[in-house]
Amino acid sequence: MTLDELKKDDQTYVSGAYARFDLAIREGKNAVCWDYDGKRYVDFGSGIGVNSLGFADDKWIMAVAEQAKRFAHCSNLYYSEPCIRVAKTLCERTGMKKAFFQNSGAEANEAMIKAARKYSHDHYGDGRHEIVSLVNSFHGRTVTTLTATGQEGMHKDFAPFTGGFVYAKANDAADLGEKVSEKTCAILVELVQGEGGVVPLDLVFVDQVAKLCEKEDILLLIDEVQTGVGRTGSLYAFEQFGLSPDLVSTAKGLGGGLPIGAVLFGEKTKDVFGPGDHGSTFGGNAAVCAGAAAVLERMDEAFLKDVRRKGERIREKLMGLSNVETVSGLGMMLGVSLKKGTGKEAAVRCLERGLIVLTAKERIRLLPPLTIGDAELEEGLSILCSVIESF
Ligand SMILES: *Cc1c(COP(=O)(O)O)cnc(C)c1O
Repeated sequence: MTLDELKKDDQTYVSGAYARFDLAIREGKNAVCWDYDGKRYVDFGSGIGVNSLGFADDKWIMAVAEQAKRFAHCSNLYYSEPCIRVAKTLCERTGMKKAFFQNSGAEANEAMIKAARKYSHDHYGDGRHEIVSLVNSFHGRTVTTLTATGQEGMHKDFAPFTGGFVYAKANDAADLGEKVSEKTCAILVELVQGEGGVVPLDLVFVDQVAKLCEKEDILLLIDEVQTGVGRTGSLYAFEQFGLSPDLVSTAKGLGGGLPIGAVLFGEKTKDVFGPGDHGSTFGGNAAVCAGAAAVLERMDEAFLKDVRRKGERIREKLMGLSNVETVSGLGMMLGVSLKKGTGKEAAVRCLERGLIVLTAKERIRLLPPLTIGDAELEEGLSILCSVIESF
């Protein structure tokens, strides 16, 4: 196969919902991959934060293959050891009380929204169902999570949207105060807005949100689909903000490349779902959960410390460039805004020179595999720096 042959069939047979870069990966190992011409790339994108252990991690392959040999799927009608193990690990490591498994970030957010509304209905009855989310947020592509997404431009073409969402400005406690009412059941935030441009929330604002939630029995919902599973230098970003959330969603990096999402329930919400209240045929799939268990096992304190060190190294290197306006983000989730040139233009030039990077709004977005070695990190940084200075 050549890239041109693949492109032709893709354009004929695959729905055009994505504008693709000129790259088809044939195989990879950790933070390096090769295309169909044998050209080598350093990966600073990890499949949008999914390949947390990079491509083809040996222990992860073993864990998934061994489970697939026994059984891959058994249905949630039966007990499943890999699923139970991941739930237990997530709860023990985060202080959350229970987990429910899904297959993607949007689905995890759907479950979180349903859980929040049910909690409120159980305790307060009808009418207290509104969820306040933030302007510039991203929560997924299903009709309801798209509605939760606070980006005006995405609220078109698919009407009618789900009712019961209002939007407050990030880092603006006064605006949030105006949007919260007796109808509010939950506030939904990303601690670092990923698709929105890698924009972290202020600690002070987050603290005000948490206090308001506590006072009014409004549930605090944290979307950690992108920030979770070590990405920001702690297992979950909420730890760095000193929060005890009522519900947390997690997905992207959790499966190490396989599709998984989960909702984590806090003390207040842990028993909100009873039999029949929610479901997912594939959720908690044994082979997928074996992969997630391998990912979580790797992420001990030393691993997370190394994520923080590598994040600092990237930041330090980029801050020294004359064409860099700002570097935003936490850990190894970073956004770079340029004085001259757009993120998209930079991503195309990086790819030509053998480096994969992402974009978010006008920014370059970096989500390298958390396992990237120092040699590949420096190699990628040197390409990135020369591209940034080429405008
Ligand atoms: C990617 C993302 C989602 C959606 O996840 P999918 O797996 O694509 O459904 C939701 N929230 C955030 C913060 C994300 O980054």
